[in-house]
Amino acid sequence: MRRIAATQGLAVAGLLLLAPGPDVRGQTPEIRPTIVVHGGAGSFTRANTDSEAAGEIHASVGRALEAGMTVLDAGGSSLDAVEAAIRMLEDDPRFNAGKGAVFAHEARNELDASIMDGATRRAGAVAGVTHVKNPISLARLVMEETRHVLLAREGAEEFAIEQGVELVSPDYFFTPGAWEGLMRARENERAAAEATSTAPSTDEHYGTVGVLALDREGRLAAGTSTGGLTNKRWGRIGDSPLIGAGTWADERCAVSATGTGEFFIRNAVAYDICARVRYLDVSLAEAAETVIMDVLVEQGGDGGVIALDSRGNVSMPFNTGGMARGVLRSGGEPETWIFVDR
Ligand code: ASP
Repeated sequence: MRRIAATQGLAVAGLLLLAPGPDVRGQTPEIRPTIVVHGGAGSFTRANTDSEAAGEIHASVGRALEAGMTVLDAGGSSLDAVEAAIRMLEDDPRFNAGKGAVFAHEARNELDASIMDGATRRAGAVAGVTHVKNPISLARLVMEETRHVLLAREGAEEFAIEQGVELVSPDYFFTPGAWEGLMRARENERAAAEATSTAPSTDEHYGTVGVLALDREGRLAAGTSTGGLTNKRWGRIGDSPLIGAGTWADERCAVSATGTGEFFIRNAVAYDICARVRYLDVSLAEAAETVIMDVLVEQGGDGGVIALDSRGNVSMPFNTGGMARGVLRSGGEPETWIFVDR
């Protein structure tokens, strides 16, 4: 407690940077509802993204921001906003989540998703589902309707049937781009096996989606949804459905990650960023940048995060060629980026 009070004092006495407490008239400043979205790190590079494709990604991220803000502006919760925005991105074939998900080695789409409510630290997640149109909504039902956090594969699908969520034939998730990605990955694997010197290239297509929201009550929520990595095998599960790795929200900080999940799992990335904010008295940006640009880069881990704190500060570092991302604050205009400079 003492530490938090000291930080607030400093901020107020110094630059009036973040003033969270009562102002001089004793009034608590109003919280400005905020939505932050990512559409994956890695798959968008200057070389493979022409201006038309980039324009579509900007527009899709902008629509997701607006979908989340519509919920927040109507007085909805951060959890509702996260779910609404992620559903929109899952239905959009441009992203590796829901329709458009990448293919596993067995030529199937295996979907992972998670959601977390910062105010209560309740969380729900699903992994390896193959018929659920919107895995984020199933993750929320795991949180709200069971005493568990993570359900996988057949069991998760059985639960989906019980809950009456929309199921689709596995063909629904097909997109030519994701299919070609699998063909290329298999070909690379074959070539690497023949020329024993090169490691098989794992994946070039991320596009996972994640959303964070801060509502009028000051509650944070986070969610992430993905098809995982192209050519993943043996029931591989990445960081996206793992609370603390790909998704985290607490009372002060929320994070959603994208990148090669194994690194994010080993470093508990989403939790680590919020733990640094909580225990080290560092800013959100410093915590997020240290983890993505120092800790991960040192290990060769590629990807990025979006991070949001309860004062509305946003940080979106990535160590790949690009990361689709955007921010919308209530009453403002959506701002979207793919590369460092937009
Ligand atoms: N992090 C996801 C995974 O490893 C992939 C991604 O972000 O694109 O499953």
